[in-house]
Amino acid sequence: MIKVEHISKQFGSLKALDDVSLEVSKGEIVCLLGPSGSGKSTLIRAINGLETPENGKIYFEGEEYDKKNATKYHQQRLKMGFVFQHFNLFPNMTVLENLTLAQIRVKKIDEKQAEETAMRYLTRVGLAEKRDEYPNKLSGGQKQRVAIARSLCMNPDIMLFDEPTSALDPEMVEEVLEVMQSLGKEGMTMIIVTHEMGFARTVADRVVFLEDGHIVEENEAKAFFSHPQSERAQLFLSKVM
Ligand code: ATP
Ligand code: MG
Repeated sequence: MIKVEHISKQFGSLKALDDVSLEVSKGEIVCLLGPSGSGKSTLIRAINGLETPENGKIYFEGEEYDKKNATKYHQQRLKMGFVFQHFNLFPNMTVLENLTLAQIRVKKIDEKQAEETAMRYLTRVGLAEKRDEYPNKLSGGQKQRVAIARSLCMNPDIMLFDEPTSALDPEMVEEVLEVMQSLGKEGMTMIIVTHEMGFARTVADRVVFLEDGHIVEENEAKAFFSHPQSERAQLFLSKVM
């Protein structure tokens, strides 16, 4: 589904990504782990097109994902959902309007159908009764669930998450992780940057551990957590578990 081939990304003299390659298959759940500054966000942002690597190539569903090929690129990009640490909901719109906006404007879906889809996903994340609320009336966990529902309304083939629970109060982390876990069970392909090790261990199929812009270790999640191979991963796990 996603193939990243030898990408590099530099910020000034700093190599945020240095010759990184990664493949993610349909239905797979891959967690990106690593210390702060290791390049996790840069990698997931490059996959989404928010960062442009200087070198290397990215393929999405078998076709090159390249801004220069604008029409194709925009079609491909619509098939990727991205959920950030901060929810990026539009504050001046109701929950329902947040969910229908891109469907109507970008996908040209008629309003009635867009609302039906929105309500289906709002129900899915347990927030149907919040349809007419404004985002500032929601808790952090509720906002993040709305953000996930908004992405799902676009019918993505893959969901990318960059620390979706890092800005939440501890008691709200679980409700968001549960939504993500159930998406995974239904077969959604997901790449997730997270510091939630328990979640990565139980939900991920595979873990990719980065440090200093390199992939240091990559393994099946259970094997990674029970027997990390590299010293760096061992040290990291000893600090965070
Ligand atoms: P964290 O866990 O703190 O979110 P991360 O693994 O996501 O860290 P990145 O955000 O990918 O790390 O950053 C990798 C490196 O690139 C860091 O050293 C960071 O300071 C640098 N970097 C990232 N974005 C930029 C930018 N826009 N301009 C300059 N440097 C950047
Ligand atoms: Mg980051």
